[in-house]
Amino acid sequence: MVVTATADLVVVGGGVLGVAVALHARRTHPDWRVALLDQTAPGAGATGRSLAVVAPTGENSAIRGLAARAVEIYRSTELHDCVRPRSALVVVPEHAEPMLKEQTTSTVRRADASDVQRLRASAPGVQLRPGDAVFAVDDGFLQVDTATLAELPADAGVTVAHDTRITACREADGQWELLAADNACWRTPRVVLAVGPWEPPDITAAEGPWVPPRTRVKRVASLHVPAYKGEPDDPLVAFPADNLLLVPGEDGLRVSFLHPHWRSGPLAHGAHEAPDFTADDLAAGRAALAVRAPTLAEQAVGGQVFWDTYPEDPLAFVSGPAAGSLRWLNGGAGRGVRLAPALAEAALAVAERPRPDAADLSPATPVA
Ligand SMILES: Cc1cc2nc3c(=O)[nH]c(=O)nc-3n(C[C@H](O)[C@H](O)[C@H](O)COP(=O)(O)OP(=O)(O)OC[C@H]3O[C@@H](n4cnc5c(N)ncnc54)[C@H](O)[C@@H]3O)c2cc1C
Repeated sequence: MVVTATADLVVVGGGVLGVAVALHARRTHPDWRVALLDQTAPGAGATGRSLAVVAPTGENSAIRGLAARAVEIYRSTELHDCVRPRSALVVVPEHAEPMLKEQTTSTVRRADASDVQRLRASAPGVQLRPGDAVFAVDDGFLQVDTATLAELPADAGVTVAHDTRITACREADGQWELLAADNACWRTPRVVLAVGPWEPPDITAAEGPWVPPRTRVKRVASLHVPAYKGEPDDPLVAFPADNLLLVPGEDGLRVSFLHPHWRSGPLAHGAHEAPDFTADDLAAGRAALAVRAPTLAEQAVGGQVFWDTYPEDPLAFVSGPAAGSLRWLNGGAGRGVRLAPALAEAALAVAERPRPDAADLSPATPVA
């Protein structure tokens, strides 16, 4: 195999995680030649179909720490160019107030009458139940423009290679050789694989397992209600107990809901093509939304769908084979956009180690 290109770091996969790693590497090592390879183009996978909301929340302290760090990085680096702040209104049962406050890293306050008015405007026909309480989070939620995000690496001096599907990673003379489907070969001392829910490349000459055990793939979807016309400042509306997030926008309302479809077994869903949003997706989304907003549910006409990876251990984000300097980065579990910049820091920190240490030898290296 003839080596056709070299780099100090190669990132495979141009989703939000790969982009975040490439940008972090350029920021911290301005002298490095960083390459970002994608089988299609940056933003072509789950990221391009995402609602891309960054929530300052987490169900445990490790995830909250990552979420808070991610918000900080989104705001203070070149990623700033692709985010805009959003306010949020959160509806929970009265008794869940302490838990909401514990799980949110930003200030949570009781909603006032004008907030409730905004809630009714953002979610027409919404049904509040006896015992529900409405809270406002004025600061900390962000929304990422994923099209702008996909442009950032090239602007930052990263070499971006489109239509480059990596099929295998091999160790050669203490470096990694990445073989592409078109027979190109990249050589590099450091690799971060951020291939999301797609079929991972074949890794030879490396001790596994490198994908966290019992990782499953889940269908993640959002509904679209184009009849609703929102304003840019409309708040997000969240019903955490119902797994519903309403995201008003100028092109309509988008709704994230808990999709019932899981796929166990091998990580890959067996294809290199994006899934279509089907009539079953629409029915599942409508049923979920009808619990809180039946009129909006009736008006939903379509949506977006993709797969995402869910490791059994929610902290098993950065993992890799025993040989150091190659890392598989999983930020999925339906919240890759929320955590990406913080996970990128963690992934690069381990990929920078010249040789494996004890932590590297475990199948999954928790980052916190
Ligand atoms: C409808 C929907 C709504 C969502 N809403 C939110 C939300 O509000 N907030 C949030 O935090 N998360 C949300 N998510 C989840 C979030 O979008 C994902 O967790 C995140 O985008 C995963 O990013 P990734 O970089 O891991 O994967 P991807 O975006 O899929 O990127 C992987 C990339 O790798 C490339 N690739 C794969 N294999 C190869 C190969 N062998 N060689 C080269 N390139 C390869 C692919 O082309 C792809 O571009 C949502 C997801 C969906 C589908």
